[in-house]
Amino acid sequence: MTSKAKKLAQSIIESYKLAVPVDVNSLAEQEGILIREEALEDNVSGMLVIKDKQSVIVVNANHHQNRRRFTIAHELGHYFLHRSLSNVFFDESLLFFRDEKSAQGTKFQEIEANTFAAELLMPEQVLWERLSEKPLDALDDVESSALGELAAELQVSCQALTIRLTRLGLITG
Ligand SMILES: [Zn+2]
Repeated sequence: MTSKAKKLAQSIIESYKLAVPVDVNSLAEQEGILIREEALEDNVSGMLVIKDKQSVIVVNANHHQNRRRFTIAHELGHYFLHRSLSNVFFDESLLFFRDEKSAQGTKFQEIEANTFAAELLMPEQVLWERLSEKPLDALDDVESSALGELAAELQVSCQALTIRLTRLGLITG
């Protein structure tokens, strides 16, 4: 179940009083985690290294800002959810696994970290507030400015937002 990751993100949003666009750098800082931007291989999104004195999130400086934000949120997910399981998390590419049931072990950790990141950056409650009265229409709005404006407000990619809204049933057609 990924509901644990989602609930954790919601409780962090609440306790830190986070508003969109969520400042992931500040959240990491408040947790005592250093963010380092480095030019990594293109298929590497980032990594989390946990140490007693100073934990570090390394993020690929070559990636677009929206993608770096998602990576940081994903690594924060590992930090909050999995730090008792490992000291190093290395993310070669953030795949959106389609079949959650077949995923186990470290793959399941990746799904949880993605679930955490999605909820942190694109809180379900905010999306419902914006769109419950008028869900986006897949044919009309996804290519238009409505989706782009919301993505810009949340500082996420249109692709990530489209996946998210589709899963929540906020894109019709
Ligand atoms: Zn990961």
